[in-house]
Amino acid sequence: MTKKFTRTIENFTCQQCKTHVTGNGYTNHCPHCLWSKHVDINPGDRAHSCTGLMEPIQINIQSNETIITHQCTKCGTIKKNKNHESDSTSAILAMMKKSHI
Ligand SMILES: [Zn+2]
Ligand SMILES: [Zn+2]
Repeated sequence: MTKKFTRTIENFTCQQCKTHVTGNGYTNHCPHCLWSKHVDINPGDRAHSCTGLMEPIQINIQSNETIITHQCTKCGTIKKNKNHESDSTSAILAMMKKSHI
C-alpha cells in the first residue's frame, strides 16, 4: 500500500461543534471536539465523495504519539489519525476516559 499525502491548506467550520478552524495544511479534524469529516481517500487529497462526519471513537498512545481513531457516521469507515499539537487536551483526556485507557 502506498501512502500519499497532499498538503491542502483550508479553513473550515466544524459541523459538530461549530468552531471555526484555521487550517494549516495538516488539519484533518476539529481541535476542539476532535470530530473529522470523511473527505480523503489518501490524507489531504479530498477525493472521497462521502463527506460524512467522522466520530472520534478511540484514543491510543503509541510511542509518544497520540492516535485518534475516527469512524464515519455515514459509511462506517474507520481511520486513524495522529493528533495535532493544537488539539484540545481536555477533549483528548475525555476521550481517553471514554476508551477506558
Ligand atoms: Zn468541533
Ligand atoms: Zn464515510
